[in-house]
Amino acid sequence: MPELLSELTTLRLGGPARAYLRCDSAAAVAEAVGRCDAVGEPVLLVGGGSNLVIADAGFAGTVVHVAHEDVVIDGTVLTADAGAIWDDVVAASVDAGLGGLECLSGIPGSAGATPVQNVGAYGVEVAAWLDAVELYHRATGETEWVAPETLGLGYRTSRLKQHEAPGGGSAAAGPADVVLRVRFALSDGASAHIRYGELARALGAEPGGTVDPAAARRAVLDLRRGKGMVLDAADHDTWSVGSFFTNPVVPAASAAAIVARIEEATGESTPQYPAPDGVKLSAGWLIERAGFRKGYDGGRTGVSLSTKHTLALTNRGTGTTAELLDLAREVRDGVFARFGVELRPEPVLVGAELPALRP
Ligand SMILES: Cc1cc2nc3c(=O)[nH]c(=O)nc-3n(C[C@H](O)[C@H](O)[C@H](O)COP(=O)(O)OP(=O)(O)OC[C@H]3O[C@@H](n4cnc5c(N)ncnc54)[C@H](O)[C@@H]3O)c2cc1C
Repeated sequence: MPELLSELTTLRLGGPARAYLRCDSAAAVAEAVGRCDAVGEPVLLVGGGSNLVIADAGFAGTVVHVAHEDVVIDGTVLTADAGAIWDDVVAASVDAGLGGLECLSGIPGSAGATPVQNVGAYGVEVAAWLDAVELYHRATGETEWVAPETLGLGYRTSRLKQHEAPGGGSAAAGPADVVLRVRFALSDGASAHIRYGELARALGAEPGGTVDPAAARRAVLDLRRGKGMVLDAADHDTWSVGSFFTNPVVPAASAAAIVARIEEATGESTPQYPAPDGVKLSAGWLIERAGFRKGYDGGRTGVSLSTKHTLALTNRGTGTTAELLDLAREVRDGVFARFGVELRPEPVLVGAELPALRP
């Protein structure tokens, strides 16, 4: 049993848990969660710990570490246990000559967590290739394969994700359903459409076209390494949860006024992308234009923005969760003060709070 949950998180932050159960099969995960639920014991599911910000005080409940990890490929269908390491799953799909997941190379964590926030990168989200998800329903104790359409998959969200409670705290109850396995229906040979300009340029590909999945995987890993977005224990820039904030989506009705305000304040045109419910802005761009440069620490010694990517908040080795959230608060409040746009955290906060915005 790990003494501290910092041993299970990519931030290397988080205090102790009351109990820890490592589960090496789907049945063991379902049984562990069911046993806790029967006695009202709070449960924290942990895969790779790469999207978790856990309080310094730890978690007053049982950590269920999802660690079953088989991957089976049958034709163009890939089925992965929830605990399979996601990048191994992507590598296995590419090695088998299958396309679809290559743009999601290098994302840390487990296969089972990918639908939780509908992971995405370089213009692709898992939602595009998910065929079915096997869930353990905590309310009924039943196990069932469900269609992805039932999961409410959206931009870095789904109904499986624990969202912040009002005021910025988080609920300890955990998600209603536990992912036991994920199934993807992939393409026989061609990559996903390469829509992300930076990746298309790196590949010398036509935007919107397809390429060899192995070439796309190599290019994505190279791009990600340059941004500190591939785990490397020796590089503190990767002691993070990846992007700490989601890109803000402003409602269509107010988008023009907000963009005009930002452009007046900066004298530059701000990156903006169409989104289903409005216009998506770039959180990293706004953070830099609000005066927070790469490596910014605001006088703190244990945490700072990554020196490679403004959107990643990192532990420099001696950080605490309290210090990290204080930096997050300063950045969020600074962006709001300058542009009137509120950034929201992407990771799941456990027992920890991002203090409410002080406009
Ligand atoms: C360097 C770095 C780069 C990153 N880049 C990206 C990126 O490009 N795109 C992106 O989308 N994300 C990115 N992330 C975030 C993170 O890797 C993903 O969200 C990943 O899917 C989390 O997987 P995990 O197994 O580590 O989840 P954990 O951190 O262990 O858990 C995250 C949440 O999911 C829940 N959970 C875990 N397993 C299950 C399960 N089996 N069933 C139900 N709930 C579960 C947990 O309780 C928790 O609420 C990055 C993180 C890092 C550190």
